[in-house]
Amino acid sequence: MPDVVIVGGGISGAAAAYEIARAGHSVTLFEARSLAAMASGWTLGGVRQSGRDPAELPLAKAAVARWGGLDEELGAVTGYRRRGNLRLARTEAEVGVIRDLVAQQRGLGLEIDYLPDNAAIRAIAPAIAPSVLAASFCPGDGHADPIPAVRAYAGAAARHGAVIRDGVGVRALIRSGETITGIETNDGEIVSAGRVILATGIHAPELLRPLGLDLPLRIRLVCVLQSVPLPPLFEQVFGVANADAAGRQEIDGRLRVTTGIGDWPHEPGSWSPDNLAPRAADIATLIDRVTQVLPVMADAGVSRIWGGLIDLTPDALPAIDAHTGLDGLVVAAGFSGHGFGIGPITGEILADLALMRQPRFDLSPFRLGRFAGSTAPDSVLTLHG
Ligand SMILES: Cc1cc2nc3c(=O)[nH]c(=O)nc-3n(C[C@H](O)[C@H](O)[C@H](O)COP(=O)(O)OP(=O)(O)OC[C@H]3O[C@@H](n4cnc5c(N)ncnc54)[C@H](O)[C@@H]3O)c2cc1C
Repeated sequence: MPDVVIVGGGISGAAAAYEIARAGHSVTLFEARSLAAMASGWTLGGVRQSGRDPAELPLAKAAVARWGGLDEELGAVTGYRRRGNLRLARTEAEVGVIRDLVAQQRGLGLEIDYLPDNAAIRAIAPAIAPSVLAASFCPGDGHADPIPAVRAYAGAAARHGAVIRDGVGVRALIRSGETITGIETNDGEIVSAGRVILATGIHAPELLRPLGLDLPLRIRLVCVLQSVPLPPLFEQVFGVANADAAGRQEIDGRLRVTTGIGDWPHEPGSWSPDNLAPRAADIATLIDRVTQVLPVMADAGVSRIWGGLIDLTPDALPAIDAHTGLDGLVVAAGFSGHGFGIGPITGEILADLALMRQPRFDLSPFRLGRFAGSTAPDSVLTLHG
């Protein structure tokens, strides 16, 4: 019997598997599709502190400190680059938003600068359009390659003895009174465990509901476009003041750019994580928005387009919690479009909770119970990228 079972092989589950295995405990991770098949593969891959909710900022700062050493620690390339995040103002109204953001984030102790004009922005990133008026610049932010990063975690976990069961879905958590004692796979296999970590992204509510636990999520679609490899253009992640576009250039030169959130499903009843094709109109909007701030986009060859689903909670903060009323259960879901960058710290916290160690962060803002009785929320996507 493994000490810990993890359900979900995104960045949260894979990082937790690594932390638990390297602490010397037996751990088995079940992933229904393949590692990083959902949000952790769809993602832009921004590793950002700027624009974070004050409750999440300590996690984001700690994550940045951790990302820098991950390639060496995990023995694999995550593609992490700490080159900063530019948040752009396209209008006078957005200039005000960016100024306020900088003041608020500086007040929280974050190193972030206000770039008051186009020349200051283009001194850092000459590819940005001359029409952009101002920006924030957070030099400690960065980006990483999502799928290699998740695989790096899973590979290192396996080297420490973790069992990764890729392609094996879990249909239920097993409960005995007020304790979770294991899981049942889609094939009916029962696996007992001292602790079960649920890190199944948008699928978390389906596994929580039969246990009487609520995680109200509003699912939204974000359109992502990847270009063919281009010569080096810029190294930062860029976003915009109202979060309706963001992007970065990957290490191999591909642009990876996203829109803000759109409605999902496109048609009532069509809800399916396997049906993610963005509408042509959404793709046109994405290209328009990105070209406005990054003119080179207009001539870039398009390699791939996909839709990614965002799991918005009512307050746009995740549930990271072991105080669910059920012993043995640890939940990590509802990252609301910004759970990739903090993944290394989510993994650390999940390991602490599963192994009954005291986490080094205040987790009270992330209690699952705060949503009890809430209906599906109407929160907006806070800044991404
Ligand atoms: C387009 C887009 C852009 C984004 N940009 C950023 C960004 O720039 N920066 C940032 O920090 N965040 C970003 N995010 C958010 C970030 O990607 C997610 O918050 C993060 O990846 C969540 O990781 P996770 O491991 O918790 O969940 P997921 O990556 O969704 O992993 C859950 C896993 O569980 C598996 N699973 C589900 N049900 C079961 C089951 N029953 N049994 C077994 N396995 C199961 C799934 O197949 C999946 O692999 C973005 C998200 C999207 C969609």
